[in-house]
Amino acid sequence: MSAYDTNNIFAKILRGEIPSHRVYEDDATVAFMDVMPQAEGHVLVLPKTPSRNILDADASTLPSLIGAVQKIAIAAKEAFDADGVTIMQFNEAPAGQSVFHLHFHVIPRRDGVPLKP
Ligand code: 5GP
Repeated sequence: MSAYDTNNIFAKILRGEIPSHRVYEDDATVAFMDVMPQAEGHVLVLPKTPSRNILDADASTLPSLIGAVQKIAIAAKEAFDADGVTIMQFNEAPAGQSVFHLHFHVIPRRDGVPLKP
């Protein structure tokens, strides 16, 4: 597996070098809206610490991260009056990862509305 690239887009967003629409932040975690949402309310949740994906993440960072994912899933479901929430997370390009800073997708879902590709 490649090393963490400090110039990936999410690292730049975390440093404030690229704008984002932040919807949540705590000591360890940031969440912002996905620039190409697969459904209304698509949020990305990421740790502030640098890891490429879950395969190289420090296990001690994961409990707070998944706790934030749960909070945001509950809030997004309510905010977007959704019927459910899809949570996705990809590791390395063959698995669908395109930005190499660990992140979870939190996507409110409505009955009968498929995800955009
Ligand atoms: P991945 O395929 O790595 O799991 O997902 C990366 C996600 O980042 C995609 O859903 C993509 O739309 C989103 N994304 C890529 N570049 C930017 C950006 O500059 N800003 C924001 N907010 N989202 C981005």
